Amino acid sequence: DSVFAAVVRAPEDPILGVTVAYNKDTSPNKLNLGVGAYRTEEGKPLVLNVVRRAEQILVNDESRVKEYLGITGLADFNKLSAKLILGADSPAIQDNRVTTVQCLSGTGSLRVGAEFLARHYHEKTICIPNPTWGNHPKIFNLAGLSVKTYRYYDPATKGLDFQGLLEDLGAAPSGAIVLLHACAHNPTGVDPTLEQWEQIRQLIRSKQLLPFFDSAYQGFASGSLDADAESVRMFVADGGECLAAQSYAKNMGLYGERVGALSIVCKAADVASRVESQLKLVIRPMYSNPPIHGASIVAAILKDSEMYREWTVELKAMADRILSMRQQLFEALSARGTPGDWSHIIKQIGMFTFTGLNSEQVAFMTKEYHIYMTSDGRISMAGLSSRTVPHLADAIHAAVT
Ligand code: PLP
Repeated sequence: DSVFAAVVRAPEDPILGVTVAYNKDTSPNKLNLGVGAYRTEEGKPLVLNVVRRAEQILVNDESRVKEYLGITGLADFNKLSAKLILGADSPAIQDNRVTTVQCLSGTGSLRVGAEFLARHYHEKTICIPNPTWGNHPKIFNLAGLSVKTYRYYDPATKGLDFQGLLEDLGAAPSGAIVLLHACAHNPTGVDPTLEQWEQIRQLIRSKQLLPFFDSAYQGFASGSLDADAESVRMFVADGGECLAAQSYAKNMGLYGERVGALSIVCKAADVASRVESQLKLVIRPMYSNPPIHGASIVAAILKDSEMYREWTVELKAMADRILSMRQQLFEALSARGTPGDWSHIIKQIGMFTFTGLNSEQVAFMTKEYHIYMTSDGRISMAGLSSRTVPHLADAIHAAVT
């Protein structure tokens, strides 16, 4: 008998499992709105032109070798990533108070940040929004932090439970870490307004909580890289400390390249440099050093003003297509007279709409219409096209009537 005979089968990942089920479906009308990856109007994955261009340049450069990067990754990439999230003129960067390390996309950046905090930060509680991206509690628990939730979403308004959020963060242990989605909250698509962010900032600073930003959608939400980083920049402008995990999966379409960055903004340069020395001790036994290809692409684009500009144009086009899908779905439901208020479809921000459909309605839509999404009713707007909107609208209409 196998020495592993006692291993029990684990459940599929709730998000990635949706694609597993979708792949098994043989219907020609099947539609995958589960996965958080951009699709073109033709339903195809997209490689940005500027990424292809950068790759060509890298391939043709025979001086490039495949040596190991250092533990913290590609230095240019790290500098440029910090500028991208904090702003080119950020005083924290000018003061050398920021340490940035290249990590394995957003997930890896969160994990490295969490491992560092578990070892070197005095308070082990991390407050995450309810609901949040399903991987958050697992990442933080496995790093040894103690996960608590704060109220975030109000199902009644399909908007922010701002009062609940303030109450729960106000009641958090002093010094607790607070996980914040920088923009385009996943799964709800609900973000605080700038005025609300300012109140959250004041509360966090007055209670000496430690903000940890997850920035997986910079530029992808509004189409503007600066606008989508406002929340983070407000917290850096006050001179206080924070962490930020960046992903280039969505905004550069580099999903499988696993390229991201963790920045820790400190109060002084010597602290930042000591923090970086400890980040190396976290990273070295985990995966030694990060991969070179994706970071080289990102650095090539960020440091060349012409390629940077081309990127922003392509990024805006992706954001705009998603906004147009929101509008089209909303109009299709209005045209069908589907009962209920569906204005949240156009109010919510980013890749996802949190439809408010319950798990039975989702199961019905999968069974009868071959539409796949997570059981919490979250749909990826990026997986829709003008061709598939009517099918989805028919399915939602049938599910709620
Ligand atoms: N954080 C949030 C909120 C996300 O939605 C995602 C991706 O779906 C990630 C982080 C990390 O993704 P990746 O590790 O692919 O960069």
